[in-house]
Amino acid sequence: MPSVTFRNGVQVPNLGMGTWNVGENPALRAAEVQALRCGLDAGLKVIDTAEMYGHGRSESVVGEAIAGRRAEVYLVSKVLPSNASRAGVLEACRRSLGFLKTDYLDLYLLHWRSPVALEETVSAFEDLMQMGLIRGWGVSNFDVADMEALERVSPDALANQILYNLEERGTEFDLLARDAASGVVTMAYSPLGQAGALLRQPVLVEIASQHETSLGPATPAQIALAWVLRQKNMLAIPKAASVAHQKLNIAALQIVLTPQDLTALDRAFLPPRRKQSLSVI
Ligand code: NDP
Repeated sequence: MPSVTFRNGVQVPNLGMGTWNVGENPALRAAEVQALRCGLDAGLKVIDTAEMYGHGRSESVVGEAIAGRRAEVYLVSKVLPSNASRAGVLEACRRSLGFLKTDYLDLYLLHWRSPVALEETVSAFEDLMQMGLIRGWGVSNFDVADMEALERVSPDALANQILYNLEERGTEFDLLARDAASGVVTMAYSPLGQAGALLRQPVLVEIASQHETSLGPATPAQIALAWVLRQKNMLAIPKAASVAHQKLNIAALQIVLTPQDLTALDRAFLPPRRKQSLSVI
């Protein structure tokens, strides 16, 4: 499976699993747990969650899914900016570990920029590392200027998790290359455009009709995902709440987009020509 390597040497498949909105409907819980386990069974490792997602309900579903198989998982959670103080980070991390029923996170991210000084948050992350509660830390929704500010505090961030999909290409102008050059892995959130209008774009339907995977004819979602996955230093974390979606996403790894496909996609979804502020959801 294609992979990305964090600056601390840890290597993971470049396809992970998102969990926003997971845990919101008790009737779906069993299927959500099954979908995550299906991903692990297929060799996926990264599971992305956050204290914000349902105030721990997403983390609790993840905790159930990974019970008994912690070593197979690269577990990512995020602290809210409102908890980014020294004491707040420690408390939030302990709470997340409780919901996740584990004693460490592989990666802990600041969900977005906080009014708390970066020095304080980073030193709280460093404390957590010393305590063995996390194995690495990073950020999310940080634009170029934020990354510059962060690097003045510490060179150790492992990842920057940002919005990235065919409709949201602004970071191609600067942030993606900058993060790669400084050894920060990009985690692409909402790579399927949250299954909205993106997946109905005729160009995706057309390209899908020209590709196959072991599951059958390719789908527009698989093309959108393959487009994100083809890029270096990029870890995509689509959310799949069913085994069927999880399997389709894993099968997207089989798709190799042709130069003609890429040209058609560039025509339909223009790459940026100038700086654009980082879009966030
Ligand atoms: P995605 O782009 O991953 O889209 C999720 C939607 O796509 C769901 O409706 C899902 O349906 C559907 N879907 C999944 N697989 C397929 C498929 N093969 N075919 C058709 N539809 C499919 O959006 P998210 O916003 O969830 O982003 C992914 C993850 O990124 C989040 O879950 C979260 O972990 C993270 N994130 C981080 C943010 C941040 O600020 N750091 C912000 C937003 C997201 P179903 O649920 O029925 O499977």
